[in-house]
Amino acid sequence: SCGFVAIVGRPNVGKSTLMNRILGQKISITSRRPQTTRHQVMGIKTVDDTQFIYVDTPGMHIMSKDRNKAINRFMNQAATQALRDVDCVVFIIDRTRWTDEDQAVLKRLEHVKAPVILAVNKVDRLQDKNDLLPWLAEVGARRDFAAVVPISAKHGTQVEALEEEVAKYL
Ligand code: GDP
Ligand code: MG
Repeated sequence: SCGFVAIVGRPNVGKSTLMNRILGQKISITSRRPQTTRHQVMGIKTVDDTQFIYVDTPGMHIMSKDRNKAINRFMNQAATQALRDVDCVVFIIDRTRWTDEDQAVLKRLEHVKAPVILAVNKVDRLQDKNDLLPWLAEVGARRDFAAVVPISAKHGTQVEALEEEVAKYL
């Protein structure tokens, strides 16, 4: 089988790092600077007889107040297009912060019919692991997520578990 997986999230949450980790090579640009990825980056991973087509989706965070800017309008359209006909969405957030931009991305996912998996990234940076469970419960209640998986894209922690969740929907 084969399927499309969209990776979405506000800038700097680790979308490109996750793509690179899953695909095992540097195909997506990572940077501290927001919006390094202006275009969609796509990568294919074959596991047994399943092809996973991952798409790093920029522009999901753009909020309505910016709607008049041509570049924002363009990226908005590209982001919406990317979510059409995907089999699964991986929505990435940071381990300790929920921002207006995260909320904007969540809103963009409102009409998406594909299952949305919440990946809570950068757990390697957690000072106190006890903070994680209440946070997962809080963010996990913001939508009926198909799964909530804490990960470290940078270190690879739990990334295989995330891929196994994705595989359920292909
Ligand atoms: P994107 O804008 O969502 O594509 O985010 P990037 O993948 O470019 O990552 C933004 C920054 O966060 C980079 O400096 C990454 O090295 C860092 N980063 C990404 N994932 C992790 C992680 O799991 N742990 C830590 N500590 N840093 C991460
Ligand atoms: Mg990126």
